[in-house]
Amino acid sequence: MIKSKINLSFLSIAILFCIKSEAEINLESLMAVLYSQTSGEIKATFVQTYNTAEDLLDIAIEDKNWDAVLESERRSERTPAIILDVDETVLDNTPFNARSIMNNTNYPEGWDKWIYEEKATLIPGVKDFLLTAQEKGVKIFYVTNRRTVYEEATKNNIIKLGLPFDNDVDVLLTRGENGWGSSKASRRSHVSEKHRVIMMFGDNLNDFFDLPEKANYVTRKDSVLKHENMWGSKWFMLANPVYGHWEQSIYGFELLDEASKTKAKLENIRTN
Ligand SMILES: [Mg+2]
Repeated sequence: MIKSKINLSFLSIAILFCIKSEAEINLESLMAVLYSQTSGEIKATFVQTYNTAEDLLDIAIEDKNWDAVLESERRSERTPAIILDVDETVLDNTPFNARSIMNNTNYPEGWDKWIYEEKATLIPGVKDFLLTAQEKGVKIFYVTNRRTVYEEATKNNIIKLGLPFDNDVDVLLTRGENGWGSSKASRRSHVSEKHRVIMMFGDNLNDFFDLPEKANYVTRKDSVLKHENMWGSKWFMLANPVYGHWEQSIYGFELLDEASKTKAKLENIRTN
């Protein structure tokens, strides 16, 4: 009896030390990570996006003028292709964000470890859509701002999930490869030379078109309707409440400490 009491006290102390108090944890992205990981609602938005795109595949393949790339020179005789961003468009990395919360760390700490584990899971709806597109003769390209050093691990992760990944040409275009910077415009042009890109998918406006450097969120929001005819037919946006340029634009793309970020957030909500 005494022995079991002692064991129980040890257990209680161990639990106390394991569970960090809320004050020790960075909770800024807790709701966003929970929404991404637990809500049927976000899953429905992903599935409806990829279902809508799938319904348009035949029309887009058939129509030789159907071109999703603004930078395209619209050459004739190109094979149809699709461009997708990778993170939070194809791969779900929210366990990394959950770790950041629990470890009280911030990106990029732990990001490389997460990538090398090759354990990211699928964004719902993407696999069925891409397999159908591939069957119809559409080439699949992944255009990511993951750096070139992560190319092999990213490729492995994509292949493990059973997604299309051709080997005849480079279908995973990373940041830093061939002198490509973080703007994806040059990579869109590159793919467009030999392929008619019929659709693009992303979770960031920059996955579709270039914005002025450090554009504030007013400019970013205004730019959406400048391309009104693209959304839902040639361009498909996936919701990412956890991170993105939408958040950085609130801070003027400055690296702020957590208290300054909270202050900027509060200053930028509307009450009317
Ligand atoms: Mg992304």
